Amino acid sequence: MKVAVIGAGPSGLAAANELTSNGVGVDVFENEQTVGGLAKCINLWGEQVEMGPHFLLLHTQNAVKTLLENILGDDVYKYNRLSRIYLNGKYYDYPPKPFNIIKNMGSVKTMAAAGSAMVEMMVPTKNNGTVESYVQSSIGNYLYENFFKGYTEKLWGIPCNSITEEYAKSLIGFDKLSVGSIAKKIFADKNAAHHKQCIYPKEGMGMIWQRLSQKVQQQGGNILLNTSVKGAVMQGKRIAGLVMPDGTERLYDYVFSSVPEAAILRLMPDVPATLVNELKQIKFRRVILVYMQVDPINLITDNTVYIYSTQVKAARITNYNRFKNLEGNHIIMCEYWTSDTENMWTMSDDEMLALALNDVKIFSGAEKLRVKNHHVLHMKNAYPVPDLKLSERKNMLSDFMKTFEGFSAVGRANQKLFNFSMESAMMDGITEARNIMQGTTQS
Ligand SMILES: Cc1cc2nc3c(=O)[nH]c(=O)nc-3n(C[C@H](O)[C@H](O)[C@H](O)COP(=O)(O)OP(=O)(O)OC[C@H]3O[C@@H](n4cnc5c(N)ncnc54)[C@H](O)[C@@H]3O)c2cc1C
Repeated sequence: MKVAVIGAGPSGLAAANELTSNGVGVDVFENEQTVGGLAKCINLWGEQVEMGPHFLLLHTQNAVKTLLENILGDDVYKYNRLSRIYLNGKYYDYPPKPFNIIKNMGSVKTMAAAGSAMVEMMVPTKNNGTVESYVQSSIGNYLYENFFKGYTEKLWGIPCNSITEEYAKSLIGFDKLSVGSIAKKIFADKNAAHHKQCIYPKEGMGMIWQRLSQKVQQQGGNILLNTSVKGAVMQGKRIAGLVMPDGTERLYDYVFSSVPEAAILRLMPDVPATLVNELKQIKFRRVILVYMQVDPINLITDNTVYIYSTQVKAARITNYNRFKNLEGNHIIMCEYWTSDTENMWTMSDDEMLALALNDVKIFSGAEKLRVKNHHVLHMKNAYPVPDLKLSERKNMLSDFMKTFEGFSAVGRANQKLFNFSMESAMMDGITEARNIMQGTTQS
């Protein structure tokens, strides 16, 4: 059996490893010059840092855990994750903890929140499928307005009444955080400690992808970097191979893709115009990452702080020292979510640095943050905007792709969930590879 894997990110590499370790021949095609996809590292000032904070939690995904133990051995730091929410000068635990919320809000606001939740119980908000009505009906209007709304709109750039409820359900588990379950959580949050335990490879997340690539190659697989697939070789409804950049064709028994289905669609013949038109309307959030190498200082003790305060424009501030169990700050990064129609996207690197410095000042009160070096990274199409049509459009696409045989799409870009992590991406790749080998895929 010979399989093509498109994309050498976490899901593609995990799939390639699973296949090659079982004797299947695999060619992996990656259009960039390095492996790791969105979870790769970049080298800044002699250190490896990720494009955003990346946590490896390792609490549920057993096959992933086994694989990582196998390739990383003792080359990891172990730490307890600290990533809190910052709002109006206070730190709230993340995931939220009821006692901590009550303590930070004080008695007056807590009473207001409790009153609002009671009103909600007596006169429930009609759920119209938006994140606004969903969260209001889960925890009341007070917490929605004062806790949830500002940050959600900062992230997505559209009002909460234009965002699907699926976002809240999959990202923050609000289906579990009803008023009743808050009381339950107060007395029995058995998983809280478990959710904090993380590992970090000693040379950054990129170490995983480098070692996984080596393993795939030792097992007989090929990894072709800088190789953008040009088309699909069709035999009726079956994808029988791929067209290479030089126009040559390679034939495969199965094609396995971890890149967005919409990208693969461009390789397909006879795509209905209605589908193409719908896909064009999916909007993407862009992300700007401002990395700063600073003189030793102790501003941020967390791995990442989620900045809910709307005066601060950054959505998160990450402290890379903490992933390595190092005290203080050395490289910190402010993360901005924006779009091609917002001014921020065209701001110069120096303007972005000035914005980041101002944000850090508001957030921490620190006047004298001395930046030795800075680097600004722009990411297009980082996250699809979860508007009210997104799920329908994604379903249209995946239904169409399912009509092709000899093909599976996996990984982050092809999921309905919004909290699709690196571990989930790897697990997805492993599971689908096993399905292919057992002949249990849908196609
Ligand atoms: C800012 C940010 C922060 C994040 N933080 C975390 C976190 O804390 N914890 C966590 O678990 N996850 C985090 N993630 C998510 C994590 O990075 C992804 O879940 C993971 O990388 C998904 O892996 P994947 O293989 O599905 O897709 P990708 O990583 O997107 O890999 C797809 C690969 O396909 C390649 N490709 C695309 N098109 C083509 C083509 N036409 N031909 C050939 N190759 C192609 C790409 O170059 C890429 O290498 C974060 C993501 C971002 C953007």
